[in-house]
Amino acid sequence: MVSVFDKVRGQEPAISTLRRAISSGRVHHAYRFEGPDGVGRERAALALGCALLCEEQPDGCGVCRSCKRVLQFSEEEPNVPLHPDVILIGRALYPPGMIGGKSEAMGISVEQIRRLVLSRVGYAPHEGKALVVIIRGAHELTTSAANALLKTLEEPIARVHFILITNSPGRLLDTVRSRTQAVRFSPLPEPILRKILEAQNIDTTAVDIADGSASVAIALSQDDVSRERDDYIDALNAAIDAPTLAPAIALNDGKAKDRTNLREKLDAFAQHLSERTRAAVATDPQGAATLARRYEIVTQSMNHLERNAQPALVIEGMVRELRRS
Ligand SMILES: [Zn+2]
Repeated sequence: MVSVFDKVRGQEPAISTLRRAISSGRVHHAYRFEGPDGVGRERAALALGCALLCEEQPDGCGVCRSCKRVLQFSEEEPNVPLHPDVILIGRALYPPGMIGGKSEAMGISVEQIRRLVLSRVGYAPHEGKALVVIIRGAHELTTSAANALLKTLEEPIARVHFILITNSPGRLLDTVRSRTQAVRFSPLPEPILRKILEAQNIDTTAVDIADGSASVAIALSQDDVSRERDDYIDALNAAIDAPTLAPAIALNDGKAKDRTNLREKLDAFAQHLSERTRAAVATDPQGAATLARRYEIVTQSMNHLERNAQPALVIEGMVRELRRS
């Protein structure tokens, strides 16, 4: 039988610890998931939530009504799991109005713990099976918030489970650390990291410098993408102003063959032109009119691209028109 735990990749020791606890019926009341960001700790915490709440199988099917609502997050703020018996805690996760108007610049406030956790742990779970409290970035608990939690960590309540996620266990209060059971997560091996990113259609260029962290790899590749776009915008502007068409032709080297990538770059260029147009309207109406015309040319070129015109021809034609504008 497929289990939701099978979807947490590259963390076999941690996952087998959790599966053993489930099959022996001895799930600890408070775990501490330690390890770097972006390696699957939160995914594993949600998988454990599924296992505790699943309607179909002890190790969590991942697809029943219960599991789905554990794994699916609300699209509106706060972005937390839809299941009423999974409480996600994290700094600045909730609008201030929900936590007594308190700023959380210093960390997870005691108000968040009081209103969202302590108000619930004394009562039966909404749907009966268990109540799962996941604390994202648990080292960001303020001292008063951590102290407010201590009693429930000390005196376990039946069917209430805590999972404290942290990349800095040393920053937790000793009293919190001593009452939670550590489960260690490691950096992801490169081939697994690559597969995870590929499965989500995310650029894998930064995999080897990401220290085994999916979130770092994603952040690095986005930096790369935005730098690449900025460079393209500069190159296009230079091609428009250049004395000859040579720079425009040079823009068509290899990279322009990737249609999606090119469409994204043209979109970025169109946005750049529209921002410049808005900025010029008051001070330089004539310049603004030129920029607006250029914007039209770029969006038309994007349409040509949509209709499967040759990317290289589209770019060359576009730069020719832009130069005349
Ligand atoms: Zn299920």
